[in-house]
Amino acid sequence: MADSTAVSEKPGAETRCGPRQFDLDRCVHCGLCLNACPTYRELGLEMDSPRGRIYQMVQVAGGAPITPAYMEHIGLCLACRGCESACPSGVRYGRMVEDARAEIEAYRTQQAPRGRAARWLRGFVFHRLLESRGLLTCAGCLLYLYQASGAKAVVRGMGLLKLLGRLGDLGQFAPSAEPPFFFSQIGRTFAAEGERKYRVAFLAGCIANVCFARLNEATVRVLQKNGCEVVVPEGQGCCGALHVHSGMPEEARRLARRNIDAVPSESFDAIITNAAGCGSTLKEYGDLLEHDPPYAAKAREFAGKMRDVTEFLAGLELNPRMGAVNATVTYQDACHLAHGQRIRTAPRKLLAAIPGLKVREMSGSDLCCGSAGIYNVVENEMSMQILARKMEAVKSTGAGIIAAVNPGCMLQLETGVRLHGGSQRVMHVVELLDWAYKQANGKP
Ligand code: SF4
Ligand code: SF4
Repeated sequence: MADSTAVSEKPGAETRCGPRQFDLDRCVHCGLCLNACPTYRELGLEMDSPRGRIYQMVQVAGGAPITPAYMEHIGLCLACRGCESACPSGVRYGRMVEDARAEIEAYRTQQAPRGRAARWLRGFVFHRLLESRGLLTCAGCLLYLYQASGAKAVVRGMGLLKLLGRLGDLGQFAPSAEPPFFFSQIGRTFAAEGERKYRVAFLAGCIANVCFARLNEATVRVLQKNGCEVVVPEGQGCCGALHVHSGMPEEARRLARRNIDAVPSESFDAIITNAAGCGSTLKEYGDLLEHDPPYAAKAREFAGKMRDVTEFLAGLELNPRMGAVNATVTYQDACHLAHGQRIRTAPRKLLAAIPGLKVREMSGSDLCCGSAGIYNVVENEMSMQILARKMEAVKSTGAGIIAAVNPGCMLQLETGVRLHGGSQRVMHVVELLDWAYKQANGKP
């Protein structure tokens, strides 16, 4: 096998794939990360622990072949980066697993291509669907017909999804379409309520425009309430997070350039996202485009302005004109906020600011819920095992609301509530703030 892991920091090195040697060298094999790893906690197998996976990456970097077992162990990783938070040596595991997946993807393309149907589906989703407003709108309309006709409830109620195998797994997590879709708001500017203190750009995501349109609207309202003029720039699109996590860095770079061109970062105090998974990748545009001379500096500037919405709001003097939300909530950390962006306090600070809201911490709130992008579809069994534990932790708090900060986690937790017979409501932290502001205005 060609030594594709050779390290080069020279311009143009972005074509190389595989974990970088200086990343691999950081691991001292101490094992302090093991207990933070959801797959190790489930399986107790060294090869499915961070240390074990790094060991395997080192073997491949040294010339060992990429085997089906290697692909399986790397594939079973959630890329949740819990190990990064636990590691005292500063191992950049997230970047390593992304590089390992890019190398596997290159190997697959050349030597072990997927079946025709799988290739078509992957190509359609990653190269067409996620970046096309037209296709996402069509998919959203079909999804809406499926749910509004009652077919969704019948299919779920009769357990028909189980008969469809992998396609059924996909259906299990299918989000609800929320017309009118947020695409209609792209290109608009929303005035600040009261004095304008900040001018921010809002990135609305890709699928979120269709399936989390109300969350996006709530995000804009809460920002307006806090003195922000909110611009939703035309020309924005998918951030490329799913592409990066699935071993497609070139695609991700193309999408990153598009977003950088669409959002002149110098015109804004901050660029805001309400999706922790997207935010983590958007903050890493500097790394992603470090070897692209025309974009490297712009990418760093863009990444420097990126803020998770909870991070941004918690850094302000929050508008206190909120009504009471008399409920009990437990907060699930999003891996890409807690571990990827090292933000844990901001969402909790916002929840604590809502009058009447009681917050009960669950144990292991920063352990992955098993969502992890498309992991819950491609590694459904492990994802469901992890989710079952998460729902036990949720249940033990007695909370009626699960607060989250990432649409992917919200879908997974909603599935958890449904499968485990709960009655909790899953809400974004920003939706709870929006609720409190509406309460102050006497709107339920
Ligand atoms: S990744 Fe970090 S914590 Fe885990 S074995 Fe390596 S050095 Fe230790
Ligand atoms: S990223 Fe998550 S699943 Fe993967 S090795 Fe680290 S802790 Fe384990």
